[in-house]
Amino acid sequence: MKFRLMGITDLSTVDWPGRLAAVVFFQGCNLRCPWCQNVDGIDPKGGKVTEVEDTIEYLKGLKPMIDSVVLTGGEPLLQPEACLDLLKAAKGLGLKCAIETNATDPKALRRLLPHLDLVAIDVKAPLSDPKLYEKITGSVGVPGLVQKIKESLKLAVDSKAGVEARTTVVPTLNDDEKIIAQLTSDIKGVDCLRLQQFRNKQTLDPSFQKLPLPSREKLLKFARAAKRKGIKNVKISTIEGGLENV
Ligand code: SF4
Repeated sequence: MKFRLMGITDLSTVDWPGRLAAVVFFQGCNLRCPWCQNVDGIDPKGGKVTEVEDTIEYLKGLKPMIDSVVLTGGEPLLQPEACLDLLKAAKGLGLKCAIETNATDPKALRRLLPHLDLVAIDVKAPLSDPKLYEKITGSVGVPGLVQKIKESLKLAVDSKAGVEARTTVVPTLNDDEKIIAQLTSDIKGVDCLRLQQFRNKQTLDPSFQKLPLPSREKLLKFARAAKRKGIKNVKISTIEGGLENV
């Protein structure tokens, strides 16, 4: 089976803390977050057309070094058949499996869940604030956007997989303690929340390149507020401190 691949990182220790993961980047995304730093991964016609079997062979070659595989993008759920084949093959190789997703396709996620050990779900804004969610994802007027993400989150929380919610803290959009506290209240049941620092080197909307990065101190403050709201395991990811447990 063919799919559109953006690229493969042979070894990552940050996508899945505690594991040595190969990361498969699927090409194409259905959202248009103006602050997106993965600009080259958005176009569904970009990347290169690749055989799933070739990717599996490649992962086999990495196996002495890796114990897991992470599917990411772009948005991997846009190519669910390729995801499914890759996950099944990875399991056959004895690898643990994770996906990083914007969670906008609960039907596709449901099919993949039996093969997943970890689901990292983007929660970009409070799920109780659809207007902000549409704005932060550049998807104003997309029908049912937040409803689909809520559905995905519930499916993941009710599954056997671990669930990590991931939020990029973006100036002018969600860098506000009250917003993060509201977001936290909307994601009961997740195992972990990771607050990620916005990066301004390359962004889909160039005006975001002029915005400063939120400081590590600010993210620490938000993380402590999230913990007070009942999320036990909160991490922050910044240029200054890397990935830290709070
Ligand atoms: S940040 Fe937004 S636009 Fe960029 S890849 Fe992720 S979901 Fe897609």
